[in-house]
Amino acid sequence: MYSTMQDVPLLVSRILRHGSTIHGGSRVTTWTGAEPQRRTFAEIGARSAQLAHALHDDLGVREGDRVATLMWNNAEHLEAYFAIPCMGSILHTLNLRLPVDQLVWIVNHAADRVVLVNGTLLPLLAPLLPSLPSIDHVVVVGPGDTSLLDGCRPAVHSYETLIAGHPTDYDWPELDERTAAAMCYTSGTTGDPKGVVYSHRSMYLHSLQLNTVESIGLTNADTALPVVPMFHVNAWGLPHAAFMTGVNQLMPDRFLQPGPLAEMIEAERPTYAAAVPTIWQGLLNELDANPRDVSSLRNVTIGGSACPPALMKEFEHRHGINVCHAWGMTETSPLGSVAHPPRGLTGDDAWPYRISQGRFPASVEPRLIGPDGREQPWDGESAGELEVRGPWIAAAYYGGADGEPLRPEDKFSPDGWLRTGDVGTISPDGYLTLTDRAKDVIKSGGEWISSVEMENHLMAHPDIAEAAVVAVPDDRWGERPLAAVVLTEDAAVDYAGLRAFLGERVARWQLPERWSTITEVPKTSVGKFDKKVLRARYADGELEVTTVGD
Ligand code: ADP
Repeated sequence: MYSTMQDVPLLVSRILRHGSTIHGGSRVTTWTGAEPQRRTFAEIGARSAQLAHALHDDLGVREGDRVATLMWNNAEHLEAYFAIPCMGSILHTLNLRLPVDQLVWIVNHAADRVVLVNGTLLPLLAPLLPSLPSIDHVVVVGPGDTSLLDGCRPAVHSYETLIAGHPTDYDWPELDERTAAAMCYTSGTTGDPKGVVYSHRSMYLHSLQLNTVESIGLTNADTALPVVPMFHVNAWGLPHAAFMTGVNQLMPDRFLQPGPLAEMIEAERPTYAAAVPTIWQGLLNELDANPRDVSSLRNVTIGGSACPPALMKEFEHRHGINVCHAWGMTETSPLGSVAHPPRGLTGDDAWPYRISQGRFPASVEPRLIGPDGREQPWDGESAGELEVRGPWIAAAYYGGADGEPLRPEDKFSPDGWLRTGDVGTISPDGYLTLTDRAKDVIKSGGEWISSVEMENHLMAHPDIAEAAVVAVPDDRWGERPLAAVVLTEDAAVDYAGLRAFLGERVARWQLPERWSTITEVPKTSVGKFDKKVLRARYADGELEVTTVGD
């Protein structure tokens, strides 16, 4: 027997329609380095409709076509976020920090027909165009040196000229909710990048969850600053969630350095922000050097890689900002777990929960698979690889225009769960603690050493600005940890002291013997520690290593 309920497809166009009418007065402010650009949600809705008409009528974009964006976080990117999926095409956000060969591979794999590009990014795009045969149109958004496009094969358009004069409403098609809405490639730390294709339904449900207090739970009294790029898993879903609840948005455009971020927080007074740990570390240092009024910020979400507890505590103690730790990945849209403490716990009692990766929302089911392939108990001790399933979790990767979806067995279990590649434990009350990525864990003499735990301890030491611990080959133990540290300005090298400090916090057999001082921990295209690069530097003999024993 079926229900008697209406079957309304969960479409991105419903989010747009709702936000641009019910919350039509909410604002999107884009930082420009000069006078900020301001638009209401109603204007964003009208301009999204104009963009959709222009793409459809002038550029011949049809349902199912991929339209790429190579853009910073700004109002026009938000217009593309809505126009492209709502008209039935697929928004493909390109990560502007990827190595160019990967960028070319990704555009060709997705067979994007159009690319919307910020003028400031033309020096990146223009030289690649001869290698991008599927691109027929380049739409330039904002100022930039368009002479770089002289003589290129695709037709070149100015965004504002293109959309001008088109109707400000659009009869958005009533699509099947399982239709592709957006795609995002993982950065491809191993092998070719892999395309995750989100559906209207998955994005809609993900937005609803983001808006619960259990997750992020912003209201229309909030202004959100998504520092996390719109090309990094849809800015963690914030733009869509914000349109559901009328949250004002402050878009940082390309001004992602600590100084301008502090300046825009002081000037525009956001109440909420989201970014990876490295951005927050930079901001903390900036605020020490050049104090600013950041008192408007009440909550921030830190995720994308393990957040050092010391960083969370510093923000709270010195700036009164509540930092919430969250876990997710491109394949999970990205909302996975969020670390709110259990009911009734505050202060020091809450910290053990807050520094964990948190609890899963109802729609994300977790399980832990141990090295023997068996499911592990949730006892807070038994470690295993985290697998998840749910309505906004990927079931496969994009296989190309004519290809079948890809289900590599290291990423998808035979019964359809996503294998996250993250290793950790789950407590009886459902809190996830990740100890490592499977590929970063240090396997020493048959035991596992958590690189993340050691890094967190090291980064709490006053002499250390950043620390990465990686596995290096060892004749006797198979692998041993190498600690690569970035010292704070006035600190002197004292490996024995650091080792003793660590010795009070982790088991003696885990203590690194190999130490190296580096100027910066190498980072990936989205600002995470790139341990692969560090391991390669060690293997190539590029690191100056000191051995310290007992
Ligand atoms: P990439 O593989 O390029 O880093 P993602 O952005 O999808 O792509 O990264 C997802 C991964 O980031 C997760 O599998 C996990 O290893 C790591 N991660 C994300 N959030 C956290 C967190 N809060 N703590 C620890 N690791 C995290």
